[in-house]
Amino acid sequence: MKPLTGFELLRPPTLVGALEMMSTLDDAMPIAGGTDVVPAFRDLGPKPVHLIDLGLIEELNGIEEEDDKILIGPTTTHSQILTSKLVEEAAPALHDAARWIGSVQIRNRGTVGGNLCNASPAADSAPPLLVHGAEAHICSLEEGHWIQLQELFKGPKMTVLEKNEILGGIRFPWVKGAGSSFQRIGRRKGFTLSVVNAAVYAERDGDRLREVRIALGSVAPTPIRAPAVENKIRGMRMSEDLIEEAATASIAVVKPIDDVRGTAEYRRDMVGVLVKRAMREAWRRAGGEL
Ligand SMILES: Cc1cc2nc3c(=O)[nH]c(=O)nc-3n(C[C@H](O)[C@H](O)[C@H](O)COP(=O)(O)OP(=O)(O)OC[C@H]3O[C@@H](n4cnc5c(N)ncnc54)[C@H](O)[C@@H]3O)c2cc1C
Repeated sequence: MKPLTGFELLRPPTLVGALEMMSTLDDAMPIAGGTDVVPAFRDLGPKPVHLIDLGLIEELNGIEEEDDKILIGPTTTHSQILTSKLVEEAAPALHDAARWIGSVQIRNRGTVGGNLCNASPAADSAPPLLVHGAEAHICSLEEGHWIQLQELFKGPKMTVLEKNEILGGIRFPWVKGAGSSFQRIGRRKGFTLSVVNAAVYAERDGDRLREVRIALGSVAPTPIRAPAVENKIRGMRMSEDLIEEAATASIAVVKPIDDVRGTAEYRRDMVGVLVKRAMREAWRRAGGEL
């Protein structure tokens, strides 16, 4: 295979070093695992850019618990997420999603930060993190700040990150006893992007849904939450009828498009199917019975 040329790869060992490069160099772009960037370069041809490899920056990698919050560094790979007991317990939906992403090779290189910053409407890490109430840390040479993850996404392949900014971390609360689930449909079982995906988070109060959150991917220009559906079913007694109601209401809030991976009509139908599956599993993982 012909090597890619036309860019310079820089490998700063510190976050400050990376941020200095981002703010001083023209056409600088961060790269983590490269599993989105490199195929795009191969398809479109590389632009003359400085690629700032974040892979050597230790503080950007890893999974920690701090004050009942889970913190995930942006260069944490999907394989790290998949093998993390902490994620499996605190955010089962994110753990589910990591299992489905690409192949072993893609999961070993691809990162959660790259998945979010690539801003595909189909990004599999996005719905789980959205339902867990995740926030994103925006770093620049000035003081960093946290935003709701939903605010990171501006449109297909577009984030709110400025040229001199890097996603420095993701955090979400660890609510003991809560359950969550991620479900997806692709054109094949593995090694393919989702045609539709969905995540549900549930907290239980006896047989009622004390808290419920629903997020959907590949049905709008960005991954979305479904607050209208959540508000309708929050506090209600869990039942198959309620699951049916949530699925029907979810179909009504999405605006999918036809593309090579599926038609809008198919996606709408599959939203209903996936919301039902995810609701049942999130409820079961929260200790509920149906
Ligand atoms: C064969 C194949 C199968 C795939 N299957 C799936 C799948 O099933 N599900 C799925 O969701 N995705 C899939 N992908 C897409 C891709 O692997 C993931 O999106 C992956 O998580 C991207 O991470 P990365 O580290 O490789 O990102 P990179 O390619 O390094 O970067 C992606 C984008 O994010 C930016 N970026 C990266 N890190 C940061 C940061 N910290 N701050 C700011 N910007 C940053 C880069 O500038 C770039 O714009 C697949 C890709 C391939 C090639």
